[in-house]
Amino acid sequence: MSGFRNMRRPGGVDLVGAGPGDPGLLTLDAAAALEQADVILHDRLIPEAILALASPTAERLYVGKARANHSVRQEALNELLTQRAREGHYVVRLKGGDPLVFGRGGEEAAALAAAGIPVRIIPGITAAGGCAAYAGIPLTHRDHAYRCQFVTAHRRAEETGLDWDALVGPHQTLVVYMGLHTLAEVCGEMVAAGTAATTPAALVEHGTRPQQRVVTGTLDDLPQRARALALESPCLLIVGDVVEARTPPAGIPAEEAHGAGD
Ligand code: SAH
Repeated sequence: MSGFRNMRRPGGVDLVGAGPGDPGLLTLDAAAALEQADVILHDRLIPEAILALASPTAERLYVGKARANHSVRQEALNELLTQRAREGHYVVRLKGGDPLVFGRGGEEAAALAAAGIPVRIIPGITAAGGCAAYAGIPLTHRDHAYRCQFVTAHRRAEETGLDWDALVGPHQTLVVYMGLHTLAEVCGEMVAAGTAATTPAALVEHGTRPQQRVVTGTLDDLPQRARALALESPCLLIVGDVVEARTPPAGIPAEEAHGAGD
């Protein structure tokens, strides 16, 4: 075993945050848990460079995540976690970013605890923190934003849209997770709710990964720019004047994109 502390706990499950993609953003405990796990369940956002830290003898289960059919899959997944833990394995449920930020970590922890499985949660760097840092966009700034809110544009089917009045306005930053597929609606709704169409906004695609792209614009033109560049998931939307306070970090391989026609 390496110099990491011992995380191994047969019969238990750890919900481990893998961060937004760059293996350097794993915590020491997350790396140790990965290295020591008997069984690893991960979803599609986890890059191979992180999975490579797992022991070659570990059982690796890919539990892909489609945008539909969540609840059925979630039950089967909880069942699988419980079963593997009951077999006496040390099980790591590896989740992108932080398990408790739009990751359903709370639901998984509750289901496991209800089944009598000891569960721990190891935090990770959430996409907002990772993408902001690697794009050089401050989430708060003494001149531009004294509040920062994280929302998701993807909700349970029975719920309607977001309460934009409470979310956007001067001197604040809004970070929208899972917003790519609804980008045009989200930007349009913000403007309809009274936010200036000229409000700066940025999309960070594949944040913290070698192929990261950052596209900046305004609420008005960002959807069209994103389409022109064929941005794909995962993408994080950052809205607010902080986007203009951007300082692209030195030495980060960022294939910059400033939108079509720039
Ligand atoms: N638990 C995760 C979020 C899961 S929701 C976390 O804390 O980061 C998935 C959404 O997160 C994606 O649709 C995207 O909006 C965002 N996301 C995750 N990783 C990302 C990355 N590397 N770059 C850009 N956005 C990312």
